[in-house]
Order: sequence, then C-alpha cells, then structure tokens
Amino acid sequence: IGLGIMGGGMAANLQNSGYDLVVYNRTAEKAQPLLDAGATWADSPSELAAQVSLLFTVLAHPDAVAEVALGDDGFLPLLPAGSLWVDCSTTNPSFARRMDVQARARDVRFMDAPVTGSKDQAAKAELTFLVGGSEEDLDDCRPEMETMGQRIVHVGDVGMGTSLKVVFNHQLAVAMSSFAEGAVLGQELGIDQETLFDFLLDSPVVAPAITRKRPKLESGEYDVDFPLQWMQKDLHMASIASFESGSALPLGNVAKEMYRLAMRSSYGEMDFSAIYQFFYEEWEV
Ligand code: NAP
Repeated sequence: IGLGIMGGGMAANLQNSGYDLVVYNRTAEKAQPLLDAGATWADSPSELAAQVSLLFTVLAHPDAVAEVALGDDGFLPLLPAGSLWVDCSTTNPSFARRMDVQARARDVRFMDAPVTGSKDQAAKAELTFLVGGSEEDLDDCRPEMETMGQRIVHVGDVGMGTSLKVVFNHQLAVAMSSFAEGAVLGQELGIDQETLFDFLLDSPVVAPAITRKRPKLESGEYDVDFPLQWMQKDLHMASIASFESGSALPLGNVAKEMYRLAMRSSYGEMDFSAIYQFFYEEWEV
C-alpha cells in the first residue's frame, strides 16, 4: 500500500522477483504498471487486507498511515491474525509504537522499517532498511527486504528503526540547507557559481549526498527524487522525537521552518535540494 516514488519502485522489484502482489494506492493510476504485469488490485485497504499475510506500507506521513490503517476501510481490522505489517513510511518513533499497540490488539505483528536511499535506489533495489521489531518478525520478511534493498540494519525494538531514520534525515536536511545558505552567501560576495561549486563540492566539508545534487543545483531543474515537503515533514518528525525525549534540536527546528517557508513559496513538490533555489531567489540582495 502506497505506490508513490518509493513504494512504486519497491513493489516493482518484488514483482520482478516473482512475488504475487495485491496492491492499493489512493491514486489508482499509479498502480497501472504493476497491474499490467499481473498484480491484483484491491479497491480499498480493507479489501487488500483480507488477501495478504505480509503487508508493506510506504506512505507519506503518520496521518496517511493512520488513515489507511484505522480509518474508514482501514486495513488493520481485516488483516488475518498472526500476519505481519511492515511500515516503511518515515514517521516518528512514538507513532510507530502506537501502531504496534493497535496491531497487537488485533493479533497482528508490527515492525517499523523506514528506508534510506531515494528514487533511484528504490528502483534498483539498493535501499537500506532501518528496522525496529523482533528478530523473529524480521526473519519472516528478510527475503522480501533483501529483494528491495541491499542492507538491513536491525536497530532494536519497535520504534528504533524510525529513531535512526529521523536522526539520519535531520543530518541530511540541515546539511542541505546549510549548503544553500553558504553558497548563496558566496554568490552574493561575487564568487561565480562554477568556482564556488568546484571548490565546495569537491571539499570534505560538503556531504557526498549534496555533491550528487549538483546537476539539479546548476540547471535549476529540480525533478523530484525526494519531495521537499516530505523533508520538512521529516524535520517535524525529528522535532516531535526531540520534544518527547527531552533532547534539544535548535538547528533542526530552524531548518524545518526554512523548508516550510519554501513550501509556502510553492517549492514543496520539487526535490528538497530546491532549498538552494529558494534561498537564491528569496534572499538575493
Ligand atoms: P510520494 O511519492 O509522495 O508517495 C506518498 C504515498 O503516500 C503515495 O502513495 C500517496 O498516495 C500516499 N498518501 C499520501 N497521503 C495519503 C492519504 N491521506 N491517504 C492515503 N494515501 C496517502 O512520496 P515518497 O517519496 O514515495 O515517500 C513515501 C515515504 O517514504 C515517505 O514517508 C517518505 O518520507 C519516505 N522516503 C522517501 C524517500 C525519497 O527519496 N523519496 C526516501 C526515503 C524515505 P497518492 O499516490 O494518492 O498521492
């Protein structure tokens, strides 16, 4: 369930490896390539639930997961007892634990397994799964994860995969916005973009994940690998986790509001690296 940028590629890899899929997506058209290749369409999450014993969800945010699991026609009440639900959406740790409680109350096993890697890695089965759950439950879906990814990190009990994921995306989001701010400063100081990028993007102070964004930064064409709006959501996930754990997240919360301002200027559906363009356009003096 959830056949967007990530879920679509992940499901295709399962299908190409011979798994029989039953699929559902809010926007039905996104399922068409899988249906053309033999997958079974379910008209609702609950209709899907009655046909599977292993379910992967790859949804935008916690509200989407809660709605699809527990809303009208949600899948959770209909999943067979003993079945396994693996949520690969990026949520926050306490949300994952709440879903675990809801699942257990219905005799369903739950694991959080958000992924790292982006659109290309999802398509090429090169994702990393960050797993929270029991060893036994992980063993029950390890072949499927190995079909969709190249690495599994079993972080701990339910909620711990999501804990590592929010830390990981906090790093990436802050680094990207820090690069954007500094690069625009350099350009305002009169350094031409090529000289600036040649030096910064070849230096150890800039993360390789940002260097890989160079074609987008230079062309101004931010075809989406990871939507900026979901990066802002992930900083919010980190912010919730920080609040709940008593940690402090000053840089993360400032970055979160920068991404929100970019969303309010219509950058939300572009790749998150468009935060550079946002700084450049909005703060040009
Ligand atoms: P996406 O293309 O926007 O897909 C989001 C999915 O959630 C779609 O299937 C969408 O359905 C569904 N959805 C959203 N709101 C819903 C609702 N209220 N009810 C039912 N379904 C709903 O985003 P994505 O990049 O694949 O991201 C999916 C998850 O993976 C997110 O948690 C994201 O943070 C995480 N992630 C993304 C990347 C990346 O690089 N893209 C990398 C790692 C992790 P529709 O098709 O109908 O909109």
